[in-house]
Amino acid sequence: MSWTGDPIWLADVLRAVGLRVIEHEGWRDRGHGDFRDLRGVLCHHTAGGGTEDWRIVQYGRPDLDGPLAQLVLERDGTFRVIAAGVCWHAGRGSWPGWPTDNANYHVIGIEAVSRGDGTDWTPAQLDAYKRGCAAILGRIGRTADDCVAHREYSREGKIDPAGIDMDEFRRDVAAFLERKDAPMSASEVTQLQEFIIKFCGPISSDVKDIREQLCGLDQRDLGQYAGWPQLGGHTLVDALADVIGRLDKFESRFIPPAL
Ligand SMILES: [Zn+2]
Repeated sequence: MSWTGDPIWLADVLRAVGLRVIEHEGWRDRGHGDFRDLRGVLCHHTAGGGTEDWRIVQYGRPDLDGPLAQLVLERDGTFRVIAAGVCWHAGRGSWPGWPTDNANYHVIGIEAVSRGDGTDWTPAQLDAYKRGCAAILGRIGRTADDCVAHREYSREGKIDPAGIDMDEFRRDVAAFLERKDAPMSASEVTQLQEFIIKFCGPISSDVKDIREQLCGLDQRDLGQYAGWPQLGGHTLVDALADVIGRLDKFESRFIPPAL
């Protein structure tokens, strides 16, 4: 069977780096034919800014049939997976290594929900935008150089995505790509936060109780500590050290609980 190159892995690849994903019914079969190969990601804004922007991306507009991009990025950082096939989003333009005036058959389009005046990006959205681009580029074996703004590619006067400094954007994408191990996902961090707060909540003024809470139950009077089964046999201190070590790679979403 011939290789079509369609990115039917989009949802999995985004989820694997901890991003929230909504898979639209039928996305794997949606598109204007098959990709020839995959060379990069083209970044757009919707110029709408509302929760229904995805409808135009999926269904199109009177002068242009949908789908208009493979992905929609909501303001809260959630990715909607619209299509796996070719979409009409690039128009005419050029970029080193991409075929001139024919990028639709070679690059994945992300339409990020925004008014389009460059002032309404949310931190969660920008973070997800970079992480998502890095995840896709990593999957197709490309570097941050192939993460391109529509306005950089287009010779039709496009301005999107407005307000995003693409040199800075590509630097951050490159940093995500260079990480050897995956950062913790948002849901992992939330679970840890909840666990730590629940775990530390009932500490009393009894020294033995505190030591037990920190180190595990067995043999506490002999100075031997078993650790906690739910922490993989580690004491709370060891587990926290592991969490902090992993958070150094995560950086942005973690708010330390008040211990
Ligand atoms: Zn665009």
